[in-house]
Amino acid sequence: MNMKMEKILLDEEEIPKSWYNIQADLPTPLDPPLNPQTLEPVKPEELEAIFPRELIRQEMSRERWIRIPEEVRDVYRLWRPTPLYRARRLEEKLNTPARIYYKWEGVSPPGSHKPNTAVAQAFFNMKEGVERLTTETGAGQWGSALALGCMLFGLKCTIYMVRVSYEQKPSRRTLAQIWGAEMVPSPSNRTKFGRSMLEKDPNHPGSLGIAISEAIEDAVTHENTKYSLGSVLNHVLLHQTVIGLELKKQFESIEEYPDVMFGCVGGGSNFAGAAFPFVGDKLRGNPEAESLKVVSCEPTACPTLTKGIYTYDHGDTAKMTPLLKMHTLGHDFVPPPIHAGGLRYHGDAPLLCKLTNDGYMSAVAFKQNEVFEAARIFAQTEGFVVAPETAHCVKAAIDEALKCKEKNEEKVIFFANSGHGHFDMAAYEAFIEGKLQDYEYPEEKIKESLAKLSLI
Ligand SMILES: *Cc1c(COP(=O)(O)O)cnc(C)c1O
Repeated sequence: MNMKMEKILLDEEEIPKSWYNIQADLPTPLDPPLNPQTLEPVKPEELEAIFPRELIRQEMSRERWIRIPEEVRDVYRLWRPTPLYRARRLEEKLNTPARIYYKWEGVSPPGSHKPNTAVAQAFFNMKEGVERLTTETGAGQWGSALALGCMLFGLKCTIYMVRVSYEQKPSRRTLAQIWGAEMVPSPSNRTKFGRSMLEKDPNHPGSLGIAISEAIEDAVTHENTKYSLGSVLNHVLLHQTVIGLELKKQFESIEEYPDVMFGCVGGGSNFAGAAFPFVGDKLRGNPEAESLKVVSCEPTACPTLTKGIYTYDHGDTAKMTPLLKMHTLGHDFVPPPIHAGGLRYHGDAPLLCKLTNDGYMSAVAFKQNEVFEAARIFAQTEGFVVAPETAHCVKAAIDEALKCKEKNEEKVIFFANSGHGHFDMAAYEAFIEGKLQDYEYPEEKIKESLAKLSLI
């Protein structure tokens, strides 16, 4: 392939008509989520207080293809299919024989992959008569995406935003408000759990764990209200496979197939979305995929896949969610305050963890400064300023391309470009001014947290 193409586009009709469910191709089934009280597998009915039936069905389904409703495809048309780029200027700068490609999810209205699932979740809730969705958000990426999804399908949206972020990072809060969401700083006096936190400390800074608990309590105590989650769960990863299914067609159109795929992993949704259709090739024994490497990229400050243990743990600090089998640093592990806020979750998606544990995927971890340096090199060659989360897999792709230079190897390198960093200028500013701190693997804190896990 030596054509000078930079950007590989698809027609609107090529937006996938079905999502790909990798559960159909797993050699052994996923370990089920467990009820935290009984330790029995969770029954679908038990989830109906917080999720609509169709999403529960998708969560547990083993059908390979799940049809995308036309109404959802219609919304996808706003920004999908997303472009695949050949990073020629980056290749030239690195002087590598490798070919580097990235698929750009920054073109959606909130600027990331997150609305791929937000609009689908809002739609299925609306179909079942739900009138309001609740959720939590840290810096606001997920909150703003769900606000958009709810607006497009006529639902109300209540977002519990971690109080420090609410006060210190108002841009995404405002974005969600423009799209009509109600933003509540958490802990709040709207819930019993929030009030109990405020009694202890009226200036409580909040945490994602507390915000999750408030959003769930709000949903279960109000009529026609459900809860929505932006990563980790099977149905979220399923919706994100629109990325990888488009990517396959784009690679086919230029007769390429990746040798190595990188993506950043917070809860695992964007990378699973990009990679699972290719991992599926591997699982089904497609010879094209035999030597494909699929590598998750995470921060050394929150090294879930590289240092965590694979076991059952709670999804949240307040232990309200079912127990999930995943790589975990312990549900009360509080990672250092790195700028890639979306990569600070203590666990990861059970599907991605299982595939990692079974050897179909692997993982690497990077420090903050090297990651921002990679993002700067990328911005100075390709132009796009990526999110601090995404910067982790940019770093991995650059490292791989430099290895190819040493060995004079012509690999095809792909990375999932999950979103832009336009709301992260304070982080870039700190980097430019040399004020970013590198956090080593916080071994003691992780040990403490893991010791508290009641191993099952
Ligand atoms: C939220 C977010 C992530 C991390 O979430 P995943 O579920 O792991 O994809 C990565 N990149 C961007 C741009 C995000 O907004």
